[in-house]
Amino acid sequence: MKTSIIEAFLDLVYPPFHPCPHCHRPDTAIHGAQASLCSPCFQGFPFLMEAEKPSGVESLAHYRDSAQSLVHRLKYKEGLYLAKPMASLMVQKLKLEDHQMVIPVPMHRRRLRRRGYNQADLLARNIASMVELTYESNALIRIRETAPMYQLNRLQRIRNMWNSITINQESTHKIQNQKILLVDDVYTTGATAQACIRELEEAGADEVTVVTFALADAESVHQKT
Ligand SMILES: [Zn+2]
Repeated sequence: MKTSIIEAFLDLVYPPFHPCPHCHRPDTAIHGAQASLCSPCFQGFPFLMEAEKPSGVESLAHYRDSAQSLVHRLKYKEGLYLAKPMASLMVQKLKLEDHQMVIPVPMHRRRLRRRGYNQADLLARNIASMVELTYESNALIRIRETAPMYQLNRLQRIRNMWNSITINQESTHKIQNQKILLVDDVYTTGATAQACIRELEEAGADEVTVVTFALADAESVHQKT
């Protein structure tokens, strides 16, 4: 937290520049107040209305337009710098108070090896540091890779996630009686989040709030990749 104050000051005096992740306009200042988007793109940012959020879910935007570009670019190494400004906008706009712990939705280790990082982990890590909550990176484990979900119906999706996520036994004692923020990049069917919540609650978590950057509409469902 202390270094982030110095970083914030340096960013103000010497703002780093990068092309806008949505329209590619060059020399866009990277800062968290508009998730590093250029001003015209940020003006069109598809913020979710309070009433559009599913119960128990804190999500920032519809999964489209500039919000979709940000989520896409965070999946590639040249977009890694976006994790911090994206997390910063989430912290500014979402209701994250009254929690103690932040946990990311896990990625299967095979996929992790291919990708090199879990984008949910990057967002979660930055959020935890900004709101000064305990961060448990490995509390949940994805024990098998799941089939793509876009062609499955709701029941099949739930079955698909069944037993694909488990609690890390070493983390169980830390989770008990905690109010937890479960972080992912996109909320799609909710099947992934439900599988995580079930595990966390069975391990004794007091309450779990799902926190995502974007919320996919029912028609544009993509499996977390
Ligand atoms: Zn732009």
